[in-house]
Amino acid sequence: MLTVNLSSLLGQPAVSTFLRGIVSRGRYANAYLFHGPHGVGKCTAALAFARAALCERVPGAAAVDLAPSLFGDAPVAGTGPGDDACGECRGCRMSSTLQHPDLRFLFPLSGEEKTLDNTIEETLQAMRDDPLHVFQYEKAASIRISQTRELLAELGYRPHTASRRIVVVRDCDRMREDQFSAMLKAVEEPGASTAWVLTTARLSRVPATIRSRCQRVRFAPLSESLVRETLEVRAGVDEKDARMLAALSSGSLTRALALRDADTSMKDQRDAALALLGPALAGDPGALWTGIQRATGFGKAGRERLRLTLEFHQLWLRDLLRARYGAGPDALVNRDRLAQLKELAARLDAGEIRRRLLVLEEALRSIDGNVSADLTLFSTLARVGGERLGEGAWPAHATARWDV
Ligand SMILES: [Zn+2]
Repeated sequence: MLTVNLSSLLGQPAVSTFLRGIVSRGRYANAYLFHGPHGVGKCTAALAFARAALCERVPGAAAVDLAPSLFGDAPVAGTGPGDDACGECRGCRMSSTLQHPDLRFLFPLSGEEKTLDNTIEETLQAMRDDPLHVFQYEKAASIRISQTRELLAELGYRPHTASRRIVVVRDCDRMREDQFSAMLKAVEEPGASTAWVLTTARLSRVPATIRSRCQRVRFAPLSESLVRETLEVRAGVDEKDARMLAALSSGSLTRALALRDADTSMKDQRDAALALLGPALAGDPGALWTGIQRATGFGKAGRERLRLTLEFHQLWLRDLLRARYGAGPDALVNRDRLAQLKELAARLDAGEIRRRLLVLEEALRSIDGNVSADLTLFSTLARVGGERLGEGAWPAHATARWDV
């Protein structure tokens, strides 16, 4: 069941107010573009907006000539919140299980055409079962032509029971040029009774023609404390893990949940990352070289792993800085290693720790560029090490491999 309403969107008060204003006035633009970082609730908000728009108790939602209700109850005006889904009417009952005939939800898919129906149904079921369901799809996943073809054919008809149809397209940047063009044509059709709600975390990949025709709604990253609280309260994550996941989330609940679900535990991943950082901080090229030999081979899909490794390094250095200034265990992400943190913090200079944090920040910014993950890890750790890990510190075969 989709239980998140517009009034309960996590950490997006401005968006919530804006969308409820639209619902209460009953005046919809032809298309909206929800954009902002990955995993901050854009799709959840899009579906909440759709449910509110299709609630039979909000202004102008029901079609004039209502089809006889399957449940034998007529819509009652004025008994819901007026700017949000009431959760009780016929429309809300259907939309909360993603079964409203006037709610179309498209999302990226991969795999063979003949298995798509199954994949779609499995995904919808997973969303009904888990309000915090994490979408995970392959890099090549796309909004399929068959999905849009079917939808476009349907747009020629009037909505089934509501006065408008809502089409939600998750990660719309995964549509092809011709799909966008077909969509534009539909949007510009006079008297269109469809409102499109597109979401994207990659605004620059959405064609300018689409961006300019949509009303844009910007989503902000979530605060670390909100991610942490949500993990604890809604996802049942224990306090210690929630703290670390939230610190690694970059304000994205989805990222925190995906990290929670990873095959290797948070702690094991953190320990593996720290096994590399230790020799770098100690300026020990032999140990670092051995560690790197073991850790590299990130390969093509390795950027996420590299990112996480460097982020663990960041968290550790931030903890060192905090410990250096006398912060108590409650303020530390890695407080299970308190003794080690304290011992290191006493030895390291605060200015040096900051310099290393800058090196990491720079490396993290460069990850999305066309760089080799292996080389980035090596050069970053060498720079974290400073002078002692400069030229001449490395064995000849290292020099040959990475041109240090
Ligand atoms: Zn309702």
